Amino acid sequence: MAKVKVATAWLDCCSGCHMSFLDLDEALIGLADKIEILASPITDIKKFTPVDVGIIEGSVSNEHDEEVAKDLRANCKILMVWGDCACFGGINSMRNLFSIEDTLHRYYSTESTAQDSKIPTSEDIPPLIPVKPVNQVVKVDCYVPGCPPSPKAIHYALAELLEGRVPVLPSEIMRFD
Ligand code: SF4
Repeated sequence: MAKVKVATAWLDCCSGCHMSFLDLDEALIGLADKIEILASPITDIKKFTPVDVGIIEGSVSNEHDEEVAKDLRANCKILMVWGDCACFGGINSMRNLFSIEDTLHRYYSTESTAQDSKIPTSEDIPPLIPVKPVNQVVKVDCYVPGCPPSPKAIHYALAELLEGRVPVLPSEIMRFD
């Protein structure tokens, strides 16, 4: 049977959700027989090719994140989001309490920053936007919340997809134990 093609991406995140995926440990060997990961943060592929399942970790926090989310959405049949940042905005959305100007000033003018450092412009870094969950930018088909989601929750969601079902996570596996 042909393997299910998967691509994953991370946006504004800490990588913890992908680390939780890797924490599946030996269960990854079983998954490797059924899925083929064509793109991930490790491959650093700049443009996606068509896949069955797209997976996003992290919130949409700058214009580049928006482009990545739209590109993956356009190239996948099912889009799944991992973690509270992607599902709800998560801890990143605390930035929305401050203006983008104040945020950049704080990032790049800290007590330990070199006195002659400059605050980057949109020519240097992707312009920041108010932090959003992924579903405020593209249609999302399934959600795996948690910070990070437990390996058990990620495995459940992937197993459901492999069975042809859109996963709806039972509450008891949404706790990290
Ligand atoms: S949901 Fe938690 S673990 Fe995942 S990227 Fe956000 S902060 Fe990191």
